[in-house]
Amino acid sequence: MRILLTGGAGYIGSHTAAVLAERGHEPVILDNFANAERDVPARLARLTGREIAVIEADIRDTEQVTAALRTQPVEAVIHFAALKAVGESEADPLRYYDMNIAGTIRLMQAMQAVGVGRIVFSSSATVYGQPESSPILEDAPTRVENIYGRTKLVMEDLIRDLARTGKLAGAANLRYFNPVGAHPSAMIGETPRGVPNNLMPYVTQVATGERAHLNVFGNDYPTRDGTGERDYIHVMDLAEAHALAVEHIAAHDVSVTVNLGTGRGTTVLELVRAFETTTGRKIPLVFAPRRPGDVASYYANPALAERLFGWRARRDVEDMCRDSWRWQASRAGINDV
Ligand code: NAD
Ligand code: UDP
Repeated sequence: MRILLTGGAGYIGSHTAAVLAERGHEPVILDNFANAERDVPARLARLTGREIAVIEADIRDTEQVTAALRTQPVEAVIHFAALKAVGESEADPLRYYDMNIAGTIRLMQAMQAVGVGRIVFSSSATVYGQPESSPILEDAPTRVENIYGRTKLVMEDLIRDLARTGKLAGAANLRYFNPVGAHPSAMIGETPRGVPNNLMPYVTQVATGERAHLNVFGNDYPTRDGTGERDYIHVMDLAEAHALAVEHIAAHDVSVTVNLGTGRGTTVLELVRAFETTTGRKIPLVFAPRRPGDVASYYANPALAERLFGWRARRDVEDMCRDSWRWQASRAGINDV
């Protein structure tokens, strides 16, 4: 299939482009490069041995996206483009409503104008808010705890409504747990701007010496060792799930909402230990107060993804640490991996 990837030059989109190309599909990247490096398409071309078409556009520009879809007809869209920082969403709500919700509406208008009826959407486990218990199934109650989470829930509802009313033939809302890792080639990966909010990029920057120590936010949670527990998922497993999801909705014309996680929880201290063992780098720790709004523990029940797509996460925490480090080390010019 030829498939449009909005936000395809970003972290998860670029890995998905690589996997789609490997599986014989033809990814077309649409990105405004607001949060992506300009040379990602060139790196993808080297990695896959194929030129990948790139459209530089904003998803909110219906006319430009419609025109692009007329010249590059696609059978499906995987919609990654969004703003994704929780704190920023609370500081600038209108920007998030505009980019995420208005942007999705404009994109869907362009899709309707050219008759593209299949979409895979990047949702997030954030829609579960503070879950009552884990593992979390897709029918667990959804709760909005911040504006970023609300935009994800609104977009999920929008997509389900369009599928229910026959405006979309196939749709998959994919709820990611905690994506980490990088392509094992270290040619693509995550490049957070400024001080990373997320654990793994912070750990890798401590390992390169860019940051002095890791602040562990809370060690009095009701978990095995008192630190927060999450379901980390390797970005390559996530990318493979997108390929299977788009193939599934194209084959069956269905609308589905599916968790993408490993089903296993890892605490902050477990992740740090795995990182140290895998990479041989020491991560100095400072115990700090809990981060406001953090949940003690959550992880997925990923059984539905296996039943529908035949997908299951294959990579473990050591793989995630090794590939995250390889990427960060290569960026920092460190050659010990
Ligand atoms: P990313 O920022 O690396 O990728 C998003 C891409 O979209 C960037 O390349 C950016 O330049 C592009 N973009 C942003 N606004 C655009 C616009 N208006 N028009 C065109 N392009 C635009 O983020 P990511 O981590 O790859 O996340 C991809 C998706 O997955 C997002 O929707 C995000 O909310 C969701 N998600 C991410 C995580 C995570 O931890 N990374 C977790 C759950 C869900
Ligand atoms: N965390 C931490 N120090 C950091 C960043 C994160 O201790 O510098 C903890 C955080 O409190 C949580 C876990 O690591 O328990 C994962 O945090 P992340 O921000 O990566 O994911 P999220 O909380 O959004 O699931």
